[in-house]
Amino acid sequence: CVFYVSDIEISRAQTPKPVTQLAEEIGLLPGELEAYGRNKAKVRLSLLDRLHTQPDGNYVLVAGITPTPLGEGKSTVTIGLVQAFSAHLKLNSFACLRQPSQGPTFGVKGGAAGGGYAQVIPMEEFNLHLTGDIHAITAANNLVAAAVDARMLHEATQSDKALFNRLVPSVNGVRKFSPIQISRLQRLGINKTEPTSLSPQEVSRFVRLDLDPSKITWQRVVDTNDRFLRKITVGQASTEKGQIRETGFDIAVASEIMAILALADSLEDMKNRLARMVVGTSRRGQPVTAEDLGVSGALAVLMKDAIKPTLMQTLEGTPVFVHAGPFANIAHGNSSVLADKLALKLVGRDGFVVTEAGFGADIGMEKFFNIKCRASGLRPNVVVLVATVRALKMHGGGPNVSAGAPLPKEYIEENLSLVADGCRSNLRKQIQIAQLFGVPVVVALNVFKTDTLAEIDLVCQIAKECGASDAVPCHHWSQGGRGSVELAKAVKEAVSRPNNFQFLYNIEMPIVEKIRTIAQKVYGADDIELSPEAKAKVDYYNQQGFGSLPICMAKTHLSLSHMPDKKGAPTGFILPIRDVRASIGAGFIYPLVGTMSTMPGLPTRPCFYDIDLDPVTEEITGLF
Ligand code: ADP
Repeated sequence: CVFYVSDIEISRAQTPKPVTQLAEEIGLLPGELEAYGRNKAKVRLSLLDRLHTQPDGNYVLVAGITPTPLGEGKSTVTIGLVQAFSAHLKLNSFACLRQPSQGPTFGVKGGAAGGGYAQVIPMEEFNLHLTGDIHAITAANNLVAAAVDARMLHEATQSDKALFNRLVPSVNGVRKFSPIQISRLQRLGINKTEPTSLSPQEVSRFVRLDLDPSKITWQRVVDTNDRFLRKITVGQASTEKGQIRETGFDIAVASEIMAILALADSLEDMKNRLARMVVGTSRRGQPVTAEDLGVSGALAVLMKDAIKPTLMQTLEGTPVFVHAGPFANIAHGNSSVLADKLALKLVGRDGFVVTEAGFGADIGMEKFFNIKCRASGLRPNVVVLVATVRALKMHGGGPNVSAGAPLPKEYIEENLSLVADGCRSNLRKQIQIAQLFGVPVVVALNVFKTDTLAEIDLVCQIAKECGASDAVPCHHWSQGGRGSVELAKAVKEAVSRPNNFQFLYNIEMPIVEKIRTIAQKVYGADDIELSPEAKAKVDYYNQQGFGSLPICMAKTHLSLSHMPDKKGAPTGFILPIRDVRASIGAGFIYPLVGTMSTMPGLPTRPCFYDIDLDPVTEEITGLF
């Protein structure tokens, strides 16, 4: 019986075709591939130039109802759907997925390669280092952090003249500004290219970033759930001459560089975004950027391979791009623009690219439309909204469950009234959110073995009553692509329906109005309330000219509201905006609703307890 086979056993039972063969099948030229071993390869961006006249395929977004600890299965639906398109309907298709962080893999959630008979293989390669993109992000992020602290030390301990002589060294008796320094001078309004022509005041403005140590926003990162690094003190060695300050670590995927990787649409765009990243504020109240630190070129060098998407395959041999994995609560939670663009060209006009947005539609999908689609210029044809009977029961008033505890009987036995209440609250609201953007919605009911026929029928019936263009049960987890053929047909039918895509808000609206629009129209709040700190930040961003950026809400994923225990579709609440921050390189303003952890911790019994390696066969066990 398939239900007793673990994800890793299923994955290992299938030998993937060599990635070179997969590349040939999807029309890549040998020079466009950089293989990393036998099973995965990076794809060069020159492919976009070669195929630029090729029409794009159909663009499908997989989103979900509000997540519960019972699991929804967006990744399995994404993979099952492309397997159904390719292997069973004989249509070109591509899945675009986020690269998982090592934090959840060894922490609580486990991997993210899908599950059952809808997986990316080899799942251990997918879930672990892959092609090193997260390591590159870590290196780049921490180079910026090192540059910040070193620069503050040097400025604190040297005169203007000594700083100038070191920053613009004399080579064979001649001092010359580097291109990055000329660009800094221009930003300071000093239109001089000859080092000797600077006045003492200009020298001082040029050499002193004058970072305010209490206003450094840049943190260090590591891709491990290491809660003891949430708050640290740096600079305690005597060599740092008393430059002691408190700072902290985030998990690597929370780095702004990850969000940039996901939103950049070329190497040049990525380089410009890296340069614009703001690391802190000067004592004069001006933002200080990576370019001011002189580090932006080096960052582009560290990230030059990470910008190429990684090609892998599903259990049934369908191509998959794995690229970028920004967190969905504090960042925008979607895989890369470049992977989607490349895949849309590769599948051709009649093909399908299925890309996944993190968490519920109120978070991942809203950010997909308002942030990712704005950056890419791409417009989706259909939204697939994933639901499960179990999660709907919890939204309908079913009891809470804690991880690892036995499931209460409500989730094992038929209970039509809980299912109906969950559909008429959370599912209805999430369908309505997708409709705000004018895109047809197909509900995919990811079937678990405990679901009854009556429950399945009821979900599909209510979903259609609530405005879904179709609603179908899917059995990809137990049957692979064959179990998602009905979903694939429904999606194929939905792309021919009218699509009146529109953004939720005009980008030129004031920051507060954009936040209010999301809170009221998407979350169902009566209004928003900004703390004094949040108001001051909004004024500062407006004054700095950052007011025309999209909004990336940092909100709990466990409720449509800011209260994680409020399931269903809460109403009658005021959304509190505690603080507002900005990721200028990535290109969004992020309001904080409540406290959002940027460094998860490990539970008492983390996933790593079960992960092991057979030294003889080199087989990994315990990953899921
Ligand atoms: P999400 O993308 O929503 O986080 P995943 O697709 O990664 O969810 O699935 C989460 C977990 O639930 C995986 O371990 C997967 O194997 C399991 N799962 C998903 N669908 C089913 C199903 N229909 N039956 C049993 N387990 C499932």
